[in-house]
Amino acid sequence: MGKNKGNPDQKKGAPSAPANNVVNLASFKCAAEDCNLKSRKFGFCEEHYEQFKFGLIKKDGTKPSDYTEKFKHYEKFQAQKKHAA
Ligand SMILES: [Zn+2]
Repeated sequence: MGKNKGNPDQKKGAPSAPANNVVNLASFKCAAEDCNLKSRKFGFCEEHYEQFKFGLIKKDGTKPSDYTEKFKHYEKFQAQKKHAA
């Protein structure tokens, strides 16, 4: 019975694993081509996630063919949001 011989501070015996509630996303960058921010949702930063929801940006960070149309809609929405705030 030598298994309790070790350092008393280590009697829990848990391996040093990262905490479960810390999702390792911090090292991921926003998927948008010209953005250097860290990703927060679906691989995008906050702003580009908004744009992603509007279809302004595709999952791989590229722009759709009707980007200009959608961007107008997006700008309008952002303006309304500022107004409401
Ligand atoms: Zn971004």
